[in-house]
Amino acid sequence: MAEHCTRDSGESGALRDAILSLCAVDIGKCYQCGKCTAGCPAAFAMDLPPHQVMRLGQLDRRDRVMDSRSIWLCASCQTCTSRCPQQVDICRVMDTLRQLAYREGRTKQQKDVVAFHESFLKTVELTGRLFEGGLLALYKLRTGHLLQDIALAPKMLPKLKKMPSRIRGLKQIGRAFERSRGDL
Ligand code: SF4
Ligand code: SF4
Repeated sequence: MAEHCTRDSGESGALRDAILSLCAVDIGKCYQCGKCTAGCPAAFAMDLPPHQVMRLGQLDRRDRVMDSRSIWLCASCQTCTSRCPQQVDICRVMDTLRQLAYREGRTKQQKDVVAFHESFLKTVELTGRLFEGGLLALYKLRTGHLLQDIALAPKMLPKLKKMPSRIRGLKQIGRAFERSRGDL
């Protein structure tokens, strides 16, 4: 069950401040109506539903929030954000919490999810767009799950696009990635 709620926590915890400064969203505005959780398509699999992430964030329960599976299961669908009567951009908060967890090395329990994110971004950095074949190869190499899903290969491989042609602006994309790494 959700922890005791208030209209505005009024607490100025370090986690609330960190989220505010990174993504300009104030989780203190959450008053625990639960509409975000009611609409979240991933809530059934989460250890903390979105409204509890908000409440524990208000209470500065950093470890509980940052080590939760929920922030990695969030599919960034924005349903919660569009439903929130307080205009709390929960989707953005989830993204920010992943960013913080990654920076702090709190990803041991989510190695495969992180490997997927890293592989996805690497293909975008190298080709300027999503390249499914490259993503699959990088993910398999990073995780070591070489034979997982092998039975699907005959159906899947013909559908994968070939290496995409070089796009314009690839250098600028590379520089954007370098800049973002400098921020980490
Ligand atoms: S919908 Fe908004 S106000 Fe309601 S619990 Fe979720 S974050 Fe809080
Ligand atoms: S953005 Fe994430 S937390 Fe929000 S509804 Fe979608 S999956 Fe759930």
